[in-house]
Amino acid sequence: MIAVCKQHVNQGVKMIFLPHVQPIPDDLKNTGVMKCHLCGKKADFKLYNFESQRKAFMKQAI
Ligand SMILES: [Zn+2]
Repeated sequence: MIAVCKQHVNQGVKMIFLPHVQPIPDDLKNTGVMKCHLCGKKADFKLYNFESQRKAFMKQAI
């Protein structure tokens, strides 16, 4: 998973395979914990890569 701000959603989506985009709730956004992967500002969206998560899960299962 990577986190990005509004300006970098499109760039972030291109960086991951099979992306899934989820907005970050305002209360979590305001903590400043989630930072944009590209510029370090407060992140507005979480971008998931389900394919790599599924592969990691398969490894654990074996
Ligand atoms: Zn950014």
